[in-house]
Amino acid sequence: MKIGVLALQGAFREHLDTLAAIGVEGVRVREPADLDGVSGLILPGGESTTMRQLIDRWGLRGPILDLARSGAPIFGTCAGMIVLAREISGGEEPILPLLDVRVERNAFGRQLDSFEADLPVDVLGSTPVHAVFIRAPVIEDTGPDVDVLARLDDGRIVAVRERNVLATSFHPELAGETRFHRLLATMASEHDDPGEGSGRRPHPTRRTQPR
Ligand code: GLN
Repeated sequence: MKIGVLALQGAFREHLDTLAAIGVEGVRVREPADLDGVSGLILPGGESTTMRQLIDRWGLRGPILDLARSGAPIFGTCAGMIVLAREISGGEEPILPLLDVRVERNAFGRQLDSFEADLPVDVLGSTPVHAVFIRAPVIEDTGPDVDVLARLDDGRIVAVRERNVLATSFHPELAGETRFHRLLATMASEHDDPGEGSGRRPHPTRRTQPR
C-alpha cells in the first residue's frame, strides 16, 4: 500500500518520515501521475495560498477531488486543513472543499504564533496527543456529518473527521506522533479491501472466493 504526500510546498518530508516510521510507503505527489496507485493522500502544513496556486498550476485539483470521491482517505494538517475546508473565513475561495467546516486562518494571532499542547483525542486511545501549532487555523463551525476529534481547553475545535477526510489544526508529524498516520493507513487498507473492516489484509485464499 502506498500513501501519497502532496510535495509542492511546506512540511511534506516529516510526513514521509512518519509514514516510514510506521512501515508504510510514502510517495511524493507533484503531478497527477504521482497519484496512480496511491491508497490515500496527506496534505501537509505550509502556506495555503501558495499551495492553492501550485495545486492549480500542476493540474492537481480534479485528480485529488476524484481520489477523495472514490473514498480514499485524505488527511490535512494545518495549511492542509485550510485546503480541505468548504469555507474559509474572510471570503477566500475554497480550494478542495471536501470537509464541511468553516476555518479561520492564523486564528491565534501574533501574540501566540506557535505553541504546543497535550490534547486528549479519544479515538486514538488514552495517551494525549502532543500537538504542535504553528500559525494554526481553528475550526469555527462544523456541518452535521463532521465528528470533532479534539478541542483546546477553551473549546475551540482543532481536529475533525468527516467520513474519509481527516484534518488537524496542528502538526502531529513534528512531534513524533504516529497515531493519526496509523489511523489513515487503517482507513486506506479498509478502502482497498472493502468489507474487511478490521484494517488487516484478507487471507490470500479468501480473495478468490465470492463475498
Ligand atoms: N498560516 C498558514 C496558512 O494560513 C498555515 C500554517 C501551517 O501550515 N503551519 O496557510
